[in-house]
Amino acid sequence: MIQFMSTPLLFTTAEDNTYCYDNSTRIVFPVGDTERQFLQQVDAGSCYDENDFIQHGLSALLEQIRHYRLFQSVFTPPVITEQYMEEKIQSEGISHLCLIVTDACNFRCKYCIYSDHYYYSKSFANRHMSFDTAKASIDYFMNVNRKAVEYNPNIDITIGFYGGETLLNWRLIRQVVEYTEQAYSLLFPNLVYSITTNAYLLSEENIDYMLEHRFSISVSLDGHPQNHDRNRVTIDNKPTFAKVFNNLQLLERIYQEKVAAQKPAIPYGILITYDNLADFEEMEAFFASQPNIDQRVQRVSRVSDMNTSYYGDEQQLEPFLQRRGEYIHQLITRSKNKTFEDTATQFSKTVLKSIIFEPMMNLPYNPNELRGTCLPGLHKLAVDSEGRFHMCEKINPHYPIGDIHHGLDISMQAKCMNEFFAALKHCADCNLSNVCNLCYVIAETDGKGFRLESDYCERFREGIVSSFSTYYSIMESNPHLFQDLRE
Ligand code: SF4
Ligand code: SF4
Repeated sequence: MIQFMSTPLLFTTAEDNTYCYDNSTRIVFPVGDTERQFLQQVDAGSCYDENDFIQHGLSALLEQIRHYRLFQSVFTPPVITEQYMEEKIQSEGISHLCLIVTDACNFRCKYCIYSDHYYYSKSFANRHMSFDTAKASIDYFMNVNRKAVEYNPNIDITIGFYGGETLLNWRLIRQVVEYTEQAYSLLFPNLVYSITTNAYLLSEENIDYMLEHRFSISVSLDGHPQNHDRNRVTIDNKPTFAKVFNNLQLLERIYQEKVAAQKPAIPYGILITYDNLADFEEMEAFFASQPNIDQRVQRVSRVSDMNTSYYGDEQQLEPFLQRRGEYIHQLITRSKNKTFEDTATQFSKTVLKSIIFEPMMNLPYNPNELRGTCLPGLHKLAVDSEGRFHMCEKINPHYPIGDIHHGLDISMQAKCMNEFFAALKHCADCNLSNVCNLCYVIAETDGKGFRLESDYCERFREGIVSSFSTYYSIMESNPHLFQDLRE
């Protein structure tokens, strides 16, 4: 007797080939007509006699189910205890310390999470982190990791700087690097720093310093001038593209000089944020005309649509969304050509990855019992300018999990996680739980537990089925595309 513990997910490619995704193993396999007709009437919990498979010409499917143990597991939300958290911290340490070095910014980007559009996040303020707060955060972070190294000598840790605009507190950033190198370079000689900046205050001096001190630099640039300046403006509403672009050229020049001098500089990356009005075709034309900048494109992400009034009247957007749809359609067609990987812009490859590949490549969280979340305060510890600990730099301030004076509050960490899982009532029956990348930030409220928007799962399902179908359609024509990513 074969019992199906989860419902098979069937999808069809543009070429009319059908595949089945199994949520227990994350295996996707092609199915013929007979198998499709059988699998589409299977529900979680149903049982079938093995002889029925044989009599209905489904012996190969039976063999696959037995061999790979397909459809055999269900998702049970974990219960996180304080002891579990404590053991994890002791054995794994904290991977990433994110210092929110300022709440101030010289820009007023229209979609910024500090803007009035976001219901729960904090607002801009003239608060800079002090060196005492940064030092106490680093000491706490390093002491936890000093113990964890005894369990695992290969632990890699990073320190990140986040804002507001980080370079407004450049003096502190230098102090942090100097203190960390002086106090902890023996313990963690390979420590890497990361920084996100709007690039307005980049200079020869700070670029040189960062590239010399193992900084991974991420710069925000929203494509061509018209699109960038539509949203990314200074505090007095002036365009910023020209200065940002000049500073990017400076960064590229200094980076190339380091490479030529065989210095171990980390390549910088460009982060692009888009909203519904952004025209991808024009963006692609811009990046195609700037190959030096294009090769640094690292991430293309949409302005968040959670807990925000940012997105306005959907009807007026129709022509823009239609144009975007046409661009994506053409991009998919182009990607089926074997020359795509060598000839396309980095911009278009990154768009393709973000809409097709990444949603269904939730690899780091195997077996994904935490969905897309990290363990708060373990995978990442964010410290605000006043020394309060948060699970992430992106979550609103209503979920603190300790501070520099008392350390991590293990009971709050466990409480947050359990409240989060309590909000996920439907996951046990969901045949996408093993690719779901839901995280706290998507379900945040004003600190009173977590809540999912009513249509979140439905939209996720539509998106993932579309991604699966497009991905396998591309793979049928161009199976080696993005080999690295798939591996
Ligand atoms: S540069 Fe960053 S922090 Fe400043 S307004 Fe823009 S998105 Fe917000
Ligand atoms: S899609 Fe929704 S129900 Fe399915 S696993 Fe994700 S959060 Fe849970």
